[in-house]
Parts: sequence; C-alpha cells; structure tokens
Amino acid sequence: TNPVYTGLPTTIFEVMSQHAKAHGAINLGQGFPDVDGPEDIRRFAAEELVAGRNQYPPMMGVPELRTAVAEANKRFYDLDIDWQTEVLVTSGATEALSDCLAALIEPGDEVVLIEPLYDCYLPLVRRAGATPKLVRVTPPDWKIDREALAAAFGPKTKAILLNNPMNPAAKVFDRQELELIAELTVAHDAYAICDEVYEHILFDGRKHTPLMTLPGMRERTLRIGSAGKTFSLTGWKVGYVTAAPALLDPVTKAHQFTTFTTPPGLQKAVAYGLGKGDDYYTALAGDLEAKRDRLARGLSKIGFGVVPCAGTYFLTVDTAPLGLGDDDAAVCEKLTVEAGVTAVPVSAFYQSDAPGNFIRFCFSKRDTMLDGALDRLARWV
Ligand code: PMP
Ligand code: GLN
Repeated sequence: TNPVYTGLPTTIFEVMSQHAKAHGAINLGQGFPDVDGPEDIRRFAAEELVAGRNQYPPMMGVPELRTAVAEANKRFYDLDIDWQTEVLVTSGATEALSDCLAALIEPGDEVVLIEPLYDCYLPLVRRAGATPKLVRVTPPDWKIDREALAAAFGPKTKAILLNNPMNPAAKVFDRQELELIAELTVAHDAYAICDEVYEHILFDGRKHTPLMTLPGMRERTLRIGSAGKTFSLTGWKVGYVTAAPALLDPVTKAHQFTTFTTPPGLQKAVAYGLGKGDDYYTALAGDLEAKRDRLARGLSKIGFGVVPCAGTYFLTVDTAPLGLGDDDAAVCEKLTVEAGVTAVPVSAFYQSDAPGNFIRFCFSKRDTMLDGALDRLARWV
C-alpha cells in the first residue's frame, strides 16, 4: 500500500464525532453547524432535484455557479475574474486542495505550510511526492516568526499552502504577514494555494483579504472557497477554485479524473446563495461572533484560558489553569466520557512537539447546545 496512507490514523474529526455519539456527549469537536443553512437555498436545490436536472453538468461547473463565483470575487475583493477560464467547481474545498496539489506539484518539490495544519494537508502534499516545509505558530498569539518563514522557502519551493482564516488557530493573517508571504512567494517564483473556506467568517469588524489581491499574486495564486462554511451546508461538498487560466487549466485536468463533476442542483442552489444581500453575510459573521463570545465567556468563567479568536468556527482554550495535565488527547477523552462534552485536541494539528494543553471547541451550534455544554463542564471541573 502507499506509505502515505499506511498506518495513518482515522481523521480526528471523525474519531471525536463517533466518540461523542457513543457517549451521548454534546459534540463541540468536528466543525459543522448543528442547524442547516438558509431554507431558500435548500428549497432551490430540492426543486432542481425534483425537476429532474440530475445528469452530468459541465465538467468545470454549471455556468450559474461559475459566474456567481466570479461576481462574488468582484463584489467582495474587487477581483476581475473571467468565469469561463478562471473558475472551477469542485466537490468541496477538499477536492480543490487535492486537485491543486496533484496538478502543480512534482516529486522532489517543497511545499511551505504553516503548522497547526488542517488534517488533509500533509497527506495530500506527501501524496504529490513533495517534501513539506513546516513553519510553526503556537497559542496563544499564533505569531509568525518572519525568519523561520523566510528560511522555509528555498530553491525547491514550488508552493505555499495557506489557510486564512486559519483552522484551528482562528487566526486571521494581518496585512504585514500577507505582504511577507507574497514577497517570499514572488521571490521564489512559487504558487500560493489559499484555503479560504472561512472567508466570510471574520469577527470584530475584520475584513478578509485574499492573498490573491496582493501585488504580484494575481497570476500565481489559487483561491479556494466552499459553500459548506459560507452557507452552513457542510454536507453538500460544493467548493470552488479561482485562478489564472494557466494555473487553473492543469487543476481542471486533475479534477476531470478525480470527481469530474459535482451535483448540478446543489451547484445551482449555491449560485443562488452567493447572490444574497450584504445582510446575509453580515448576519453569518455576526451570529457566529455572538456564539464565540457566549462560549468564551462561559469557558473563561469555568477556568479555561481562552485564546483570542478572530474568525472561523473555533475557539482554542488552555487547559493548564485547570491543572488537567499536558496530554490534550487524554483531556478530550475525559471530557467526552466524564463531562459529556466533546472537543478536539490541538496536538492533532501538529506533526510533532505540539503543546499538550490546548483543546479546540466548535461554537457553530445552537445557543442551547453551547449553554448545555457549559453547564456540563461547570459541573465536571
Ligand atoms: N479547509 C479547512 C481549513 C477546513 O476547515 C475544511 C473543513 N470545512 C475544509 C478545508 C474542507 O472543506 P470542504 O468540506 O468544502 O471540503
Ligand atoms: N473542517 C472541520 C473541522 O475542522 C471538519 C471537516 C471534516 O471532518 N473533514 O472540524
């Protein structure tokens, strides 16, 4: 078997969700909302399914969604995107990441990544035959060490894979960090594969800046989005890649032999969703910001050290103030079994030498669930 997969554990999100179910725990582990996205978007999809438009759509995606993605790029970031040559629809951001790495990376290349890492990044980079060059950031400030980042780039660098806003750190890269990344990417004539699935989930008045908008980056960046996060429909797996034609073309070739297409009714419904007014997008971030605050207040009262959260679905907390030891996986196990609340150990996002006293809670849940979890934790500590 392929050594990339041999001996790999099951992804932590699946493991913790199964564990939560088995113990009747409130699942604040895996990142998904516990209420489905807008009913009008779901109805739109249902009508498409029932009307009988269920055969292979165009390989690059239905025109409605490709134009909607191009329009959203203009509307939110003032990017001029040609929907016909610069937008590809994929089955989720995960397929987009897989296609981008398969298409652009050759054996022997190096790919720069910032650790903590979303679960699929390392296996996908390794499967492409590349050597990962990891740059660490750690809680509570998740600050990038400029020298370490510069040192990770070299003559073999083919790409940087950047997740912004970042899971699980809930970090939003500031302008200076993005400028440094852009500068290094241009200097090494590399690509930037940007996982921006949380592009509409930023808090405290922050606005998302795609790396693609920085000088020199338009032609070398692949920008990935997902309807899962933007419309609270994580099970749909509708994603999209935006990139210059010369980059998107090989990615499209990888896509055509991976999934080829994505369900057309879901694509059309997402296209309709992307056209929603500013009030939709404001409410999405605003509601989640209120949930972040609700959970942060409660966890802090219980005695956890709450780490700042600038975006995403996730709040990381320090368990050290409660004297829970330095094995975060064991802490998550205990919390599930004894307290009835499931979180994810942050060490799962590091390859090695992870801090052992941080766990991640997902707050994209009904307030009653958040309050229920807080009650259980308060009783347990
Ligand atoms: N990237 C990040 C950072 C994520 O958190 C997730 C999970 N939602 C994905 C990619 C996967 O997105 P999708 O479900 O669209 O494949
Ligand atoms: N992105 C989600 C998380 O970080 C999980 C998605 C998945 O399970 N693949 O929890």
